[in-house]
This record gives sequence, structure tokens and C-alpha cells, in this order.
Amino acid sequence: MKTVDGYEAVIGLEVHVEPSTKTKIFCSCPTTFGAPPNTQVCPVCMGLPGALPTLNGKVVEYAVRAGLALNCGIARRSGHDRKNYFYPDLPKAYQISQYDEPLCAGGWIEIETGETKKRIGITRIHIEEDAGKLIHDEKNGTLIDCNRCGVPLIEIVSEPDLRSAEEAEAYLRALRNTLLYIGVSDCKMNEGSMRCDVNLSVRKKGETALGTRTEMKNINSFRFTSRAIAYEYERQVAALLRGERIVQQTRRFDPATGRTETMRIKEEADDYRYFPEPDLEPITLSDAYIETLRGALPELPDARERRIAEEYGLPRKDAALIAEDKAAADWYEAVAKKTEYPRAAANLLLGDLFHMNTADEFSSPIDPGCMAALCTLLGDGTVNNPTAKKLLERMYRDGIDPVAAVREERLSQIRDGETLGRLVAEAIAANPKCASDFRNGKTAAAKTIVGAVMKSTGGRADPALTARLTEEMLGKF
Ligand code: ADP
Ligand code: MG
Ligand code: ZN
Repeated sequence: MKTVDGYEAVIGLEVHVEPSTKTKIFCSCPTTFGAPPNTQVCPVCMGLPGALPTLNGKVVEYAVRAGLALNCGIARRSGHDRKNYFYPDLPKAYQISQYDEPLCAGGWIEIETGETKKRIGITRIHIEEDAGKLIHDEKNGTLIDCNRCGVPLIEIVSEPDLRSAEEAEAYLRALRNTLLYIGVSDCKMNEGSMRCDVNLSVRKKGETALGTRTEMKNINSFRFTSRAIAYEYERQVAALLRGERIVQQTRRFDPATGRTETMRIKEEADDYRYFPEPDLEPITLSDAYIETLRGALPELPDARERRIAEEYGLPRKDAALIAEDKAAADWYEAVAKKTEYPRAAANLLLGDLFHMNTADEFSSPIDPGCMAALCTLLGDGTVNNPTAKKLLERMYRDGIDPVAAVREERLSQIRDGETLGRLVAEAIAANPKCASDFRNGKTAAAKTIVGAVMKSTGGRADPALTARLTEEMLGKF
């Protein structure tokens, strides 16, 4: 992110994630994504008079798990509150949320940008219900789909500890990775099961008071978050430099123009006339319940990074790249357990497979057993690195079996010094200029010879041995 000298961005994020419950938060309607409009509704989530909500305990469990994984304190008692506002996607004209007694508070998560690590504070985590969806249709006007009314949400609010688009993105990724690890949500930004409100203000470096902020709601991709931050930072700094004041407001980020524009002047809490929800009891949690959930937390990304580095002898950086994505780490470990060459597996995963996989989420069509077989072929020197990379690509694309391919297509590496020596001599004879170049100090000439031998063997020559023989022979001319 480009910054203007002397001004820093101050950013706090409110992230909503949809927990992976089968049913809604206050009724037993299903939460399946993409169902035909208004087929997953009942009197409770439609807000019909007299219908009474019942809390889905799974939502509490998921939120507490998130709180524990994010180092929060868990409230033994927390409340439900009505947030009153009218909007066509909210038939009840209020949302049941948590106001002054959230389920979890006071946590943190570690983020890494470049070489620096930093803790970002988590102010609070609370549970609430989602609103419906408005569909703006050219022919029929605006239509309402109430399937999403009452879908549970876990809201995670950060301290204003972030200072750049890069840090905000690192925070979102770390948060998403952690939530995926504990299985609380599938965190699909494109399906809306994870979305983010960006709060941003600017101030002169060195100042400690917060500036006036604006809020950009419901941003649904990492990239849009970064772009919204970069634009809004520049807009606010430019306004201050012109001597204007920032107006606290809610703004909309338009991905098409990359700009943010005013939606409304921001409401204060008073405008929502919050009051305790009279139809639900407060949530009370026992120590035993909380400790059971704590005990059941799976290994989290940081611990897994340390263990993977140790168990498979990987550099810490490589282990970190693998461990941060649960799907990648699960796949890697399935491979690493089946081969004596876990480092080869890590190199192929990080150097090749990660690039073949262009989706946000890691997934590999390659069976871990097949991958392990390839790593063994590479590790024990049966095939060289270029051949292994080519095989990997065909395994990814066409699902070939690497062992059969090596056998049937004779892809094993040529490591026999006599054969290679003959091929090197032939290559030198065919490229007479290389010898004189080499004598004149152009060591790059050796590369031409090695390249020629690689070509004549269909890429099967042992590259290190070929290079050694080439230098030896060129030196003799
Ligand atoms: P609201 O619910 O009205 O949006 P909160 O007090 O819950 O208000 O704050 C929401 C988010 O805004 C938090 O992530 C917080 O860190 C961030 N925030 C609050 N004040 C500022 C500010 N001056 N600049 C940047 N971020 C801020
Ligand atoms: Mg807000
Ligand atoms: Zn319902």
C-alpha cells in the first residue's frame, strides 16, 4: 500500500462468519446455501407475531470454540439484545444480537507480514442472526428472500491495531485459517459465509488519539478489502491535507470503480434502541463446559508449524507455508508419512503444486500414496528433479501413476559415468566454440553443454554428474 509521508492508517475489522450449523440460530429451519427463495422459513425466522425463538446450542459451542482459539476470555454469563431498525430484508424489524455482554472478549491473533510478527487484539466475539436478502430484479422490482433470516452469525471484532492493507489481509487470512482449523465455518467469502466490515481512520504518525473513522460494510474478498483500504486511506489523507474534517459515515466500496462512496451518515448505538431480548434467557456457561471445549480444540496452525518442521525436518518457513492452510497440511502429512523423503514432498508442494492450484482453497487431485511414490523416486535418485516435475504435472492433470510411467517410458535417471562421459564428449565435439569460450573464462559455456546432454537424453541425465563431467572435460581442451 502506498502511504503519504507522515500519515498512518488505523484499521479495525468486524468480521462476520456463518458457523457450519445445519439449522438456524433460533428455529430449526435448515441453512443450506443456494436453496430456492423462501423455502427455508418458518414463523420464527419470518418474525410472525407470537412466534418464540429457541437458542441453537451449537452456535454457542462454535462461538466459544472460536473464542478459545483466539485467546479470548469466555463469559460465564452473556445476554441477547434486540437491535431495532427497519429494513425490508428484516421482517421482525429487529435483529437479535449481543450488545453489552458478548460471549467472548479480550483475545488476540498473531499475524505475519514480511519478516515482522505482530499481535492483533480481538475486542469481542458475539453471536447474532443474519437478515434476509434483497434481490433487485429488472422486471419484477425488488424481491425478498427470507432464507437467510435467522441464519447464525459469529461476529469477531478487532482492536484498531492494523496499520495497512497488507496487515488487514494478513489478519483476515490468519483468522480464516484458524476458523477452518477448528471447523467452525467454511469461511467462503464468495458465498458470504465470511465477510468483513472495514473501519478506517488516519492520523499523523506519533499521535495516539484516534481520528474520525468511516466504515465500509460487507466486503466479500481479500482483494476488495485491500483495495477499499488503499482508496479510503488516500481519500481521507487528501481531505485532511485540504483542511477538511472527516465525517463519520458508512461508505460502500464499489469493486467496479475501486472507489468508496457515502451510503449513510453513521448511526450511533442510541439509534438502535438496544434492549435485552425478553423472549430468551441469558446464556450461562459452566467452567466444565468451557474446559471440555478447550480440551477438544484441535492442534492450531502455530503448533502444527512447529511440529511439522521438527517431524519432517523442514525449514521453519516451509513448515509455516504448509501449516497455515489446513487442507494443504492434511494432504502434506498424508504424503510425508508414506515416504522417506518428506523434504522432497515439501519442495514439490511449495514449488509446483501450490502454483498449479489457483483456487483460494488448497485441494489436490493427487492421491497421497501416488505423491509419496513420486517423492521416493526423486529422493532415492531414480528420477532427477526435472523429470519429477514433469511427472507431477501429468499426475495433477491426467492422474497418471508415476511408478508405472517411469517403468514404461524408461524415465529413470542416467547416472552411469561412462555413458554420460560419452554423451558429454559428443556434445563438446558438436559445439566446438564452447571449448574455446570456456578456456577464455566464459564458464557459462559449460551450461550449453549440459543443456545439450539433457536434450539428447530427453532430460534424463543426472544434472550434477553431467555438470561435473562437463567441467572436467572442457578443462582438458
Ligand atoms: P460499531 O459497532 O458502531 O461499528 P465499534 O466500537 O464496535 O463500533 O467498532 C467497530 C470497529 O471499529 C472495531 O473493529 C474497532 O477497532 C474499529 N474502530 C473504532 N474506532 C476506530 C477509529 N477511530 N479508527 C479505526 N478503527 C476504529
Ligand atoms: Mg461497525
Ligand atoms: Zn425458521
